[in-house]
Amino acid sequence: MIHRTLWRIDGAAESSAVDHERLAAGMRLHVIHSPLTTLTMQIDAQQRSYLVLDGCVGCLRDQCRVGCPAALFRRLFQSCVTGATLTAVPPPQGLACRPYTRGSFAWPDTHTQPLDSTLLRPWADARIMVHWRRYGAHICGSALLLVSADGPDPMSALRECNWHVLALPSRMVTRWHQAATPSGLPFGVPWQQPLFLMVPTCPDSEPSLQIASSRANQSPDGAPVSQEDMPQ
Ligand SMILES: [Zn+2]
Repeated sequence: MIHRTLWRIDGAAESSAVDHERLAAGMRLHVIHSPLTTLTMQIDAQQRSYLVLDGCVGCLRDQCRVGCPAALFRRLFQSCVTGATLTAVPPPQGLACRPYTRGSFAWPDTHTQPLDSTLLRPWADARIMVHWRRYGAHICGSALLLVSADGPDPMSALRECNWHVLALPSRMVTRWHQAATPSGLPFGVPWQQPLFLMVPTCPDSEPSLQIASSRANQSPDGAPVSQEDMPQ
């Protein structure tokens, strides 16, 4: 039985040593066997980033079974990223239910640019999620952006990065923002660019960690995390 687990990325904003090429290659191999979701949540000026991984019954106790995809990914992450760790978020903790009112699905084409957490800065409350999984011979990607009532149209932010977008009906916004561990997105389009992880960015500085490979064509949500996890 597959247990989907939520993992918080701790310490990444201060880190700088990333083996980009090996990480992107490892992520591609991972997604061939198991889906992967990278996610950043913003509440006011603070951001936190998470991964959703398929895992096993032992993930939360650090007693993974042999071959557990989450354990394999943690090993990859630890060997490629210095100064950041993955911490499991045990249920009933999970991503906070935040006051999102608008949302957009997005899917890539060959001109699409990778997303990073600075995308969220125009809103007081926002969440961006990118989901990868394998369909047949392809690694496919899709994205979901949820935002509060302030700030610009979420579709315009994604269009600027050359993603195709579709406005999310309000009942879907409600469904997605109430999920403590978000489910995978229901569709995907072949992803030709290097895979990437999103990490928190500080408001007044350049992101010091951009986890993305420089090599092209590697085809192939936080306050419960506890409400106390992020300042209100
Ligand atoms: Zn496990």
